[in-house]
Parts: sequence; C-alpha cells; structure tokens
Amino acid sequence: MKSRIVASLGAALIVLLGLAGGANAADKVKAVASFSILGDIVKQVGGDRVEVITLVGPDGDAHVYEPTPADAKNLAASQILFTNGLGFEGWMDRLEKSSGFKGKVVVASTGVKPRTMVEEEEGGKAETITDPHAWQSLANGKLYVANIRDGLIAVDPDGKSVYEANAAKYLDEIAKEEDAVKAAIATLPKDRRKIITSHDAFGYFGAAYGLEIIAPEGVSTESEASAKDVATIIRQVRQEKIPAVFMENITDHRLLDQIASETGAKIGGELYTDALSPPDGPAPTYLDMFRHNVGALTTALSS
Ligand SMILES: [Zn+2]
Repeated sequence: MKSRIVASLGAALIVLLGLAGGANAADKVKAVASFSILGDIVKQVGGDRVEVITLVGPDGDAHVYEPTPADAKNLAASQILFTNGLGFEGWMDRLEKSSGFKGKVVVASTGVKPRTMVEEEEGGKAETITDPHAWQSLANGKLYVANIRDGLIAVDPDGKSVYEANAAKYLDEIAKEEDAVKAAIATLPKDRRKIITSHDAFGYFGAAYGLEIIAPEGVSTESEASAKDVATIIRQVRQEKIPAVFMENITDHRLLDQIASETGAKIGGELYTDALSPPDGPAPTYLDMFRHNVGALTTALSS
C-alpha cells in the first residue's frame, strides 16, 4: 500500500516537472554560439526567450578547436548559429556541413572594419592576415549586439519587442563601460601604454583605447613564435622599456615567463582575450572581461 502511494506521488511529480520544464524548453529559441564571449552577448540579448549552447567554453581556444559529435548534434537541433567570422572559427564550415544544420547563420562581426596585417610566413613569404578579435573593442561589441538582435528577431518575430528592449539596455551598459575604459587608460602615463601578450588579440583594443601591443605569436595561436621572433621582442622590450608582460587565459605561459625573466619586465597578470573565465572566475561575462582586463592593465602600467 505504502509503496503504491509513493509510486503514484512520484508519477505525479514527474508529470508536473515535465509540464513545467517542457513548456519552457519547447518555447525557447535554440541558439548555438561558437565561443564563450559571443555566447554571453547572445544571452544578454536573448534573455529568457533563448537557450544558448556555447561550443568553445570558458578558457577554451577557439583558434584551434576540434568540434565533437555532441557539437554537431546540438547544432543540428538549433534554429540559429552565431559565429564571430573574420576567419576566427576555421573549423566551422566543416561542422556546419557535417551536422546538417538548416537554420540561420549570423556572423556577429558583420559591419566591423577589419584590421589586417602582413605577416611573414616561414620561408619569407608574406601573407595578409585579418585580425578576428574585433570584440576587444566595445564599439564593435555594439555592432555584435545589433546583429544578434536582428538575427533573433528574424527567427522569432514574436519576441521582437523583448529583443529590442534587452539590446537597448545592454547597449547602454556597453556605452558606460566604454567610457570607463577610456577614462582608465587616460590615467596612464603615455610612455607606459605598451604591453606584451603572447598572441595578438588586443589589436582592436589597442587601436580603440590607445595602447601599443606587441605579441610574439601573431593573430592566431596556431603558429608558435620562432626563436628569431622571441629575440626581436626581447630586444624591443629592453629598447622601448616596455613595463609589463601579460599572460592570457587561453595560451601557454612559458614564452612570456622567458621574456619577462630576460628583460626584467614585470608580469602584469592574466588577461582574458578569446574566452571568458568560468562563472566563479574574474571574467564570466563580456563586460566583466573588460573590467578585469582594464583593472590588470592599469594596476601594472600606472607606476
Ligand atoms: Zn585569438
């Protein structure tokens, strides 16, 4: 008798849970974002109407990611895919094809004025490279928000007013953070506005806010710095008296340790470049990432 009551209570509970969970989950727009920073921006704009799956998670390196079968399954089940573009996700075309994804693709960097640079390949061949790290300028972040909002409205027109309101509120927050970043960098002595990072992820940041960035690895993490690159940088750090070297959350620290120890430049801490931190870390959202990075930069460069 007792066990039958327990069993039917259990069944009732399952039905209740099923109704509550099912109604929500079925209504939500299923979205996939290629990497954690973009995933957060999509969440801010999508709010409660959108369920976001992020492929390359916190502290992950999207330059060299290898998609999993679960990624293909998640993508196939989604209505909209958000990518950065600008050559960041070299693995995405293949994943899209293999998954059979039939939804809408939104390239979040659409409208950004891309930075390009000429890099010398091994063997002396020069190649023009597009810098994909456009999100490191908050002005570009605003373009991402607009593209994401418009993409969500296209797949979920009923949510138009919600997406517009979420985007407007978020754009305000981004504008405030943009003012804070400019004000913080403006307090630094001009001759100290130079840093070293391992890969060249701060080009847009440097151009927007007035910081000179030197990076041994170029704009991707795919190629390692050569001994010649490292020697050049060590010379440059000494000549230009570059005050600080910064670690990145997605790359190996050993090269920077070597540069710091050979030049006496101090290690200014860890910057979040291509990925957020886990939720309990110092940079769990796009705007937290700016707050953390600017805090680390101003601490290291102010004196
Ligand atoms: Zn990068």
